[in-house]
Amino acid sequence: LSTWSAVPAGPPDPILGISEAFKADKDPRRINLGVGAYRDENGKPYVLNAVKKAEEKITAAKLDKEYLPITGLAGFTNNAAKLAYGANSVPRNQNAIAVTQSISGTGALRIGGAFLARHYPHSKTIYVPSPTWGNHIPLFKDSGLEVKFYRYFDKKTVGLDFEGLKEDLKNAPEGAIVLLHACAHNPTGVDPTQSQWKDISDIVAEKKLFPFFDMAYQGFASGSTDYDAFAVRYFVSQGHQIALSQSFAKNMGLYGERVGAFSLTTADEEERKRVDSQLKIIVRPMYSNPPLHGAHIANTILSDPELYKEWEGEVKGMADRIINMRERLYQLLSKEFQTPGEWSHVKSQIGMFSFTGLNTEQCKALAEKAHIYMTMDGRISMAGLNGSNIEYFAQSVDAAVR
Ligand code: PMP
Repeated sequence: LSTWSAVPAGPPDPILGISEAFKADKDPRRINLGVGAYRDENGKPYVLNAVKKAEEKITAAKLDKEYLPITGLAGFTNNAAKLAYGANSVPRNQNAIAVTQSISGTGALRIGGAFLARHYPHSKTIYVPSPTWGNHIPLFKDSGLEVKFYRYFDKKTVGLDFEGLKEDLKNAPEGAIVLLHACAHNPTGVDPTQSQWKDISDIVAEKKLFPFFDMAYQGFASGSTDYDAFAVRYFVSQGHQIALSQSFAKNMGLYGERVGAFSLTTADEEERKRVDSQLKIIVRPMYSNPPLHGAHIANTILSDPELYKEWEGEVKGMADRIINMRERLYQLLSKEFQTPGEWSHVKSQIGMFSFTGLNTEQCKALAEKAHIYMTMDGRISMAGLNGSNIEYFAQSVDAAVR
């Protein structure tokens, strides 16, 4: 008998399963709207010019391949914190932000989960929005936290269930951890307004909740890295201590390079040093130290004014292309095809994804009849749409809902 004979087959990853089905479909009209990676106007992966230029600089510098320190490349983590918190952030100026490089956003969340499970004194429960990015749930459970939900999405309005959100946060036990998507909520594309963020900040203060921001899309939502950092910076300005996960997968297109950062704001430099030492103690037995190349790319861009400017333009270009697709899709459905239903949410949602409101049946029909692949909750990656396929997509949606 084999040692592993009792290991049960697990379910396939819901999103990677879609890519498999898409690959197997040979119809020329096929569209993959499952994967959360940017595609250009020709439907192709996009390597940013700023990244190409940074790589040329790195190659020319003939750097060695020595190990990084446990918490990563110091220039990179410093610049990542500056990007997120802003150049004039109070804890940053006080040297009070503990930050470590991470294996992209996922790794940052995992370090954060482990740190909170070990050191956060008030609770081991994290509240995540319903729905949330699917990986949040196993990720925080595997870190040693208990996962609970707060209401977020209102199916009727295809918008934010703000009353439900406020009620659930008010009813959460004092001191609980709350996971907040900083911008471009995945999977719904629905974000709180700035005024709603202020109310959330008040409730978090009142209930002494601990805010953990997941910022996987800074710059990618609105096109401005400052605008997209509003919630994070506002919470810090209100005196909240926060945890923050950052990813450079989307905003620099560095998906497979796995570049990210995890940070905590602390009271002062002395406390920051203690927290830093514990971050090292968490990271060291997990993977010892992070990979080199992606951190050099991101750091080269963040520290070179010219490359930084070019990068900002490219982030805005990606965001704008997606915003244009939203506008065009809205026009097609509501005006040209007069598709039954209300479609303004397509325009008001933000970031990579849109919750279309299509049900499982309709999603299945789109896959089987129209060769269009998306998750069965009706989420589409807007980046998969372009000038060549958007009319076919809208027409197919129209057929599916009639
Ligand atoms: N958080 C959210 C909300 C995400 O959508 C993603 C990417 N899909 C991540 C974190 C992490 O991605 P990565 O590990 O590639 O940075």
